[in-house]
Amino acid sequence: MAAFAGTQQKCMACDKTVYLVDKLTADNRIYHKACFRCHHCRGTLKLSNYSSFEGVLYCRPHYDQLFKRTGSLDKSFEGTPKNCETRKTC
Ligand SMILES: [Zn+2]
Ligand SMILES: [Zn+2]
Repeated sequence: MAAFAGTQQKCMACDKTVYLVDKLTADNRIYHKACFRCHHCRGTLKLSNYSSFEGVLYCRPHYDQLFKRTGSLDKSFEGTPKNCETRKTC
């Protein structure tokens, strides 16, 4: 590793050499611009809206979906119709 520090840098995603013109740095890791996409949907990412987990890149919505699970999947509405809660005159 130490011997190559400097000119040759490899893309974290595809492990091929990245040239300056095609280089994108995020989190101190190097990527090809074309490789900087969501692992889940393959959508192109921007430096302003990506997330990464253990070196794997995701777009924000998929990162949230895959790792945070904020309880939106919690199905606790069996039996009670939602109308009854929103209408106070139920
Ligand atoms: Zn690449
Ligand atoms: Zn995605």
